[in-house]
Amino acid sequence: MSNYKKGTNCLHAGYVPESGEPRNIPIVQSTTFRYGTSEAMGALFDLEAEGYFYTRLQNPTSDRVAAKICALEGGAAAMLTSSGQAANFFAIFNICSAGDHVVASAAIYGGTFNLFSVTMRRMGIQFTFVDPNCSEEELNAAFQPNTKAMFGETIANPALTVLDIEKFARAAHAHGVPLIVDNTFPTPINCRPFQWGADIVTHSTTKYMDGHANQVGGAIVDSGSFDWTKYPDKYPGLCTPDDSYHGVTYTERFGLGGAFITKATVQLMRDFGSTPAPMNAYFLNVGLETLHLRMPQHCANALAVAKFLKGHDKVAWVTCPSLEGDKNYDLAQKYMPNGTCGVVTFGVKGGRKAAETFMAGLKLASIATHVADAKTCVLHPASSTHRQMSDAELEAAGVSPDLVRLSVGIEDPADIIADLTQALENV
Ligand SMILES: *Cc1c(COP(=O)(O)O)cnc(C)c1O
Repeated sequence: MSNYKKGTNCLHAGYVPESGEPRNIPIVQSTTFRYGTSEAMGALFDLEAEGYFYTRLQNPTSDRVAAKICALEGGAAAMLTSSGQAANFFAIFNICSAGDHVVASAAIYGGTFNLFSVTMRRMGIQFTFVDPNCSEEELNAAFQPNTKAMFGETIANPALTVLDIEKFARAAHAHGVPLIVDNTFPTPINCRPFQWGADIVTHSTTKYMDGHANQVGGAIVDSGSFDWTKYPDKYPGLCTPDDSYHGVTYTERFGLGGAFITKATVQLMRDFGSTPAPMNAYFLNVGLETLHLRMPQHCANALAVAKFLKGHDKVAWVTCPSLEGDKNYDLAQKYMPNGTCGVVTFGVKGGRKAAETFMAGLKLASIATHVADAKTCVLHPASSTHRQMSDAELEAAGVSPDLVRLSVGIEDPADIIADLTQALENV
């Protein structure tokens, strides 16, 4: 499969039916799997044989879809989770315990920021947040002896800051830790972080990968390139026997390509159970089959919309990393020359009130707490997700009161622009 191009892998990777088998990935909607003897079942529990026994750990539908995402990212192993939140939590918690530390970009999704700065802090894991555009010296200064991982988003939601993946990977590897990159917004169609030195990639598959707002889901992909065995004291969970799993040493038994994902599956999925429903994995796969067609259309439409907004006299500012002159333009051209994503942010002149009036006038674009699906949707954080904050608090969080997050869909761009035009007339 890996010899095929991305577009072909969107359709075929992960599942090749034998003669007479279903052409679509079958939905194995079953909690359990039957075995003839206790010995056969026991071998599965000991990880000595491969097979399914309980869907909380693994399910054939989900595994086939994970294998497709693995091929698209060019990874060694992958797993699905029930949400993007679960993917980012597992990716960090698989290698961090109480007393450990992580360096993370400050420009990340609000839900991830809360997971790290509030909930995981309560578990005893400390995070240092760095400005992603800081110098290499400042980046290196953020590391501590107990740092176990580094984290960033290829394109941050909603700031749209582009991560300098090579700079982050250099700093991570100089300190002997892996770089984890949330690649939700560009998807592997527009960027493959492994090619630039990232070690682990995460996704909220809820967004473009699904693309039809059908399911909430996540994925973790391991490149297999980070050598945990060089730092056995730092990563004992991967390099020494797991007493909670029959004394298996993951790096020994499964190699560098399999250790991380196997541990996250048999240990974290077993204990936390953030498993996607097989039906949701199926919906995700239907979306993946057209990802290579949808992404270029999202990008072209977003660029057309950004250019229109930029020239409109009621618009104060526009952020779109693919738009020439944008502060992220150079990094976007380096890492995503074929396009970034369909999300554009902008400010309506007149601040919070004007943004609310504009939003109320939209007819085609729907107001939704969602991004990155086929239909255009829009959110005004200051009056919804961030409404408890004062204008001063919003500025500190990088969300200006006039900021409108527009997720440009794949409708005809003329209709999207006509809708924006008429809504701006009301302002
Ligand atoms: C939405 C999102 C998440 C969280 O994903 P859920 O599927 O909503 O749990 C994580 N990272 C990014 C970049 C996102 O946009």
